[in-house]
Amino acid sequence: MSDYATHEVLNQPGDLVDFNVFETDAALRAAVSTFGADWAMARLGEAGARVGSAHLQLLARAANRNVPELRTHDRFGNRIDEVEFHPAWHELMGLLRADEVHALGWTAQRPGAHVARAGLSYLWAQGEAGVGCPAVMTFASLAALKHAPPLLEKFRDKILSPGYDPASVPPAAKKSLGVAMAMTEKQGGSDLRQTQTVAVPAAGGRHHLTGHKWFFSVPSSDLFLTLARTEAGISCFLAQGWRDDGSRNFLLLQRLKEKCGNRSNAASEVEFRGLEAEMVGEDGRGIATILEMAHLTRIECALGSAALMRQALVQALHHAGHRSAFQRRLIEQPMMRNVLTDLALESEGAMWLAMRAAAALDASLRDETERVLNRVLAPIAKYWVCKRAPIVAAEAMECHGGNGYIEDHVMARLYRDAPLNGLWEGSGNVICLDVLRALSREPEALKCLNAEIALARGMNADLDDWCAVPPALAEGNARRLTAYFALALSASLLLRFAPKPVAEAFCASRLRGDYGAAFGTLPQGVDQEAVLARSFA
Ligand SMILES: Cc1cc2nc3c(=O)[nH]c(=O)nc-3n(C[C@H](O)[C@H](O)[C@H](O)COP(=O)(O)OP(=O)(O)OC[C@H]3O[C@@H](n4cnc5c(N)ncnc54)[C@H](O)[C@@H]3O)c2cc1C
Repeated sequence: MSDYATHEVLNQPGDLVDFNVFETDAALRAAVSTFGADWAMARLGEAGARVGSAHLQLLARAANRNVPELRTHDRFGNRIDEVEFHPAWHELMGLLRADEVHALGWTAQRPGAHVARAGLSYLWAQGEAGVGCPAVMTFASLAALKHAPPLLEKFRDKILSPGYDPASVPPAAKKSLGVAMAMTEKQGGSDLRQTQTVAVPAAGGRHHLTGHKWFFSVPSSDLFLTLARTEAGISCFLAQGWRDDGSRNFLLLQRLKEKCGNRSNAASEVEFRGLEAEMVGEDGRGIATILEMAHLTRIECALGSAALMRQALVQALHHAGHRSAFQRRLIEQPMMRNVLTDLALESEGAMWLAMRAAAALDASLRDETERVLNRVLAPIAKYWVCKRAPIVAAEAMECHGGNGYIEDHVMARLYRDAPLNGLWEGSGNVICLDVLRALSREPEALKCLNAEIALARGMNADLDDWCAVPPALAEGNARRLTAYFALALSASLLLRFAPKPVAEAFCASRLRGDYGAAFGTLPQGVDQEAVLARSFA
């Protein structure tokens, strides 16, 4: 005690730092192995150590407290439209790109590549979630750019480069590039058919775009995909932030959004004033083209929200394991134990569902069933996992008592970040409509989904009962239907690949009518010891 202290600081758990986020996650390791990415274990372990380091946590905190600022002009009055970030953001971006979170799915070129990348993304989202946005848009851009082979050829290597170059110069002068996407306009983000931005043909096969975008994340990106209206309909375009002659392309950043969470990252409002851009894909088929990119970012939303739940759970376990009240560690108090076990089940179920979606993406080119599942699993996982994240964050915050609500603690950041994945890349209702669309357009989708769930038939009576009465396929019922599939799929995955106590507890709670609306209502008979022992080892 120092001379000035009035008291000894007791019973405070301290920060959870310098631990390996991968090695302490038995469930993630099992999923990576089950879905064919054993070969990536070593690099995931390295990333896990990096993400859990005290240094990375300090960077994350600094990047979120020192938010990006828009510089519209330089000191001489020239328009520059640049975003200034804290150095911590750039260091995080450099580390993330070196780990190939933005690229491994394409660069590894072997089965399991997308699973390994999903694992990296899941780890990194537990370090700093803001950098995940530029990483996934860069990764997903290839799904749209494949419709413009010359552009893909021109930019592919730099997009996938493990380097990070924040310089604000033309793409030709850089060794590595980041990609963004700007679709949402003021009058509508879900209904992109309302797009007002207009594209007119210009010299050299290019177009000039005039209009605006109401949300445009990572406007400092080198390239971005966007939508504009031609005579044929709404079309997809690729634009460079800087033109090859070294001048800024014709886009004006109006302001940065002051966001509830995701504060390290920049989202802007922008106007295009004759923006030079090149068409990607078929004229008039732009929404379909850009939605191929959005398909990948939707899987990422599920991974990101599953990761947020995992991070919240681990923080709660750490706190409850080191703090005592009423003569016992919190984790030993029966009701807290029930809450933590319940959170652990939620977290593991979400992780398996999100990773299964990544596995379907991985196998979609090799296997017809996986191709069909890839289409429908992404919206199912996106809807359900993102929907669960905010309540998990709130409950995990409460496990910390007052400490969890204070900005010194990471929980406050997680709580603010938690709703975001649910509302961008298609908000809940829109995603459930997409599940219905997938089921109606892919005649095999329902069969493949049911067959996947049925792989666990006979293993658990709750799951068998659950599947006996599926909800109707109707628009007004789409949330119920999507939740039904999400829970059945999670249960089936857990029964097949997780330890029995975890799977049985999940089914006994989530698939029975008497499950409480709040966490901590697991029925008697759940093997809490086994679930908690697995949850953070
Ligand atoms: C931080 C942040 C960053 C973003 N970055 C980007 C970006 O980089 N690029 C980009 O293009 N966009 C971006 N967005 C925008 C985001 O994708 C949209 O906000 C989102 O798609 C919803 O569109 P909207 O805001 O226009 O809401 P609306 O389309 O008006 O939807 C409002 C609500 O109505 C519901 N709804 C819509 N249609 C139906 C229906 N038929 N039936 C039932 N319910 C319906 C929706 O689910 C939603 O809950 C960002 C948003 C945020 C918050």
